This record gives sequence, structure tokens and C-alpha cells, in this order.
Amino acid sequence: MAVYLDHAATTPILEDIAKEIYQAMLDCNGNPSSTHQYGRLSRTKIESARAEIAHILGASTGEIFFTSCATEANNMILNRAPIDLGVARIISSPLEHHCILHTLERLEHEQGIEVVLLDVNHEGRVNIESLEELLPSNKKTLVSLMHVNNELGNVLDLERVAALCNEGAAYFHTDAAQGVGKFAYNLETLGAHFLTASGHKFHAPKGIGFMYMRHDAQLKPWLTGGAQERNIRSGTENLHGIIGIHKAMMQAYDHLDDRVTHLQQIKSHLKKELRERFVDIMFNGTENSQSPHILSVSFPPSAKNDMLDMLLDMDGILVSGGSACSSGSVKASHVLEAIGSPSDRKTIRFSFSHVTQMDEINKTVQALENILLG
Ligand code: PLP
Repeated sequence: MAVYLDHAATTPILEDIAKEIYQAMLDCNGNPSSTHQYGRLSRTKIESARAEIAHILGASTGEIFFTSCATEANNMILNRAPIDLGVARIISSPLEHHCILHTLERLEHEQGIEVVLLDVNHEGRVNIESLEELLPSNKKTLVSLMHVNNELGNVLDLERVAALCNEGAAYFHTDAAQGVGKFAYNLETLGAHFLTASGHKFHAPKGIGFMYMRHDAQLKPWLTGGAQERNIRSGTENLHGIIGIHKAMMQAYDHLDDRVTHLQQIKSHLKKELRERFVDIMFNGTENSQSPHILSVSFPPSAKNDMLDMLLDMDGILVSGGSACSSGSVKASHVLEAIGSPSDRKTIRFSFSHVTQMDEINKTVQALENILLG
């Protein structure tokens, strides 16, 4: 069995979640829009998933909308906000996921929306203080900043940004694809208008995500059709995906503290081992505000550097050489570029889940020693 340390890219579906989905695939197949008993059974599953997810996040049931993924939810918010909320300016950062940055490029070029990307320092800390100078403005503004950076593990101070946005009369959206399942949220008090999440980052299947849309920041339909998802996102619901994300959410939050403690132990063990064994190693990202599931390591220049992720793969250690979506690609990471990471250093992102075992970390360190020092 390979050692899988790429959980920020995606997580495996856990056996009991897979079993529940499989059972539902056998037993529960009515169209949730049908009024007969099969339809009603499917509808009940969807609405109980929505209610539970809302409850876990401190939202109202009517504020949660299922989507196919975080990419879709992020696209929906950025694309509809100018039309439905009169947003003329979007403030974001150069460290966001491409589903945000590419959407912003289009909005800027095709619709003339003003896009402001906040400065970041060499640790990838976003200069949120500058929001105080940018807000309020006579241009209706949406601030879109990710909660946890998928490449660096940096965690944004959500409360602070939400407060600045509320003081400055701006809408606030946070892409929490890497945060949901690892952090507790209370959306009732947070002050964010939108939050997006993706099931496959916390052991639900791929192809299911959701959007929190606060009751007073209503977007109009994104996909028009059969009026599903309260007419915001038409299309027959991904019933079995919703059953999966429901169970994965419940498990993540029932065991949040234990899982986070485990992740912290795993991460600090790997950090310590790497520090002790390799010279001139650096850890990307901020020192203190870090998610426990991501460790981004910068290795000094060496002959094997370029192929380090491939060599690890050959040894059965699966990691990412950059962000999930650019792994396997030769293109440089926009995040590492934005923080000015030297191009002759190689970054490996190790990312964990509660299923990661300590001996897998030891195997990884051993493999790195064999490759780099052997
Ligand atoms: N946002 C962040 C921060 C991510 O890490 C990812 C996935 O890598 C996404 C958005 C896209 O998520 P999805 O695969 O659900 O579209």
C-alpha cells in the first residue's frame, strides 16, 4: 500500500461512508422532486442533510445550497454578485485557488468589474490591514478571501476580515474548501455572507459541495431549469453525493477535536524529523496561523530536486509538488511565485487526514533520506 500524503488534493471515501452511499444506491433512487413515496424518501434524505450541515455550521437550513463542487459554488458567487447585488469591485488575493482567480480575470476583462488583489508577504500572509484603506467605497464591493490556503496551509483570520467587511459595507465570501472538516464555524455570528465547501476534501465523494448564502445576500438562479435548490441551482440533485457529504460532515464534526489533535501530532512529528535530518530545509507559509493538515516544505537546490515528487511516487509516497490542481503539470505554482519562493528550490506539499498514521510519516522521512542523502 502506498503512503498517501495528498489529502489536500482529495481524500479517500471512508468505508462506512461508501457503504452508506452504496446502500442508498440500492434503496433510495426516487427523484427528489417526485411527490410519490420514492420521491419523498429522497427529499427527506436531502433535507435532513441540509438541516444537519446548517446546524453544524450555525447557519439556517435555508442558507445551505448543494452544488457539484467548490469550484461551481465559487463561480456562482463571483459571477452572480455583480448582477444580483450590484457588486462593481471584487477584492481578493493572488493566493486564491484558480477557480477564483480565473473567474476574476474573466469578470475584469469581459464585464469591466474592478479587481483588486491584496499584497501578500513572503510567508503568504495577506495584507488585510489594507482593507481598512479600501473600505468603505462608493463602489459596491465583494471581498473574496480563502479561509485555508491549499498550498501553504495558511489560515485567514476570518473574524477580523468579516468585521472589516461589515464596517466597510462590503460583502464577504470565503472559500473554505480546505477549512470545512478541520475548523469549527459559527456562521450565525461570523459575519460572512458566503462560504463554500467541497465534500471530497473531507472523505465524501467527489462531485458534491455546498454554498452558504446568508439570508440577506440573495443571489438569483445560477442554473435555471426545474427550480431545485430553492430555484438557485436547478438540476436533479446529486442525492447519493449529498448522503455522502452528510455522513462525512457529521463524522468530521463529531470527532473534530480528536482529529485536529491527531493532525497536529502528525504535522509536528514530520516537521521535527525533517528539521533534524536535512540541512537548509524551509517551511513555506506563516509560522503561527497554520492548518494542521498541510505542511509545505521547501527543499534546497540539488540534483534530484526537480524530480523529488516523482521519485517519492516511485517509492510509494504520494505527495504533491504544488497545488492539487497543478500537480503533474510543469507550470510553476502561482502561489509560490506570489510569495517569491526561489525557483531553484523544490516545494513538496505533504497533507494529512485523521487516517494518516505515524509510521507512514516515518516511512516518508526514510524515503526522503534514501533519495536525497543516499
Ligand atoms: N478552493 C480550494 C481552496 C481548493 O483547495 C480546491 C480544490 O483543490 C477548490 C477550491 C476546488 O474544489 P472542487 O474540487 O470541489 O471544485
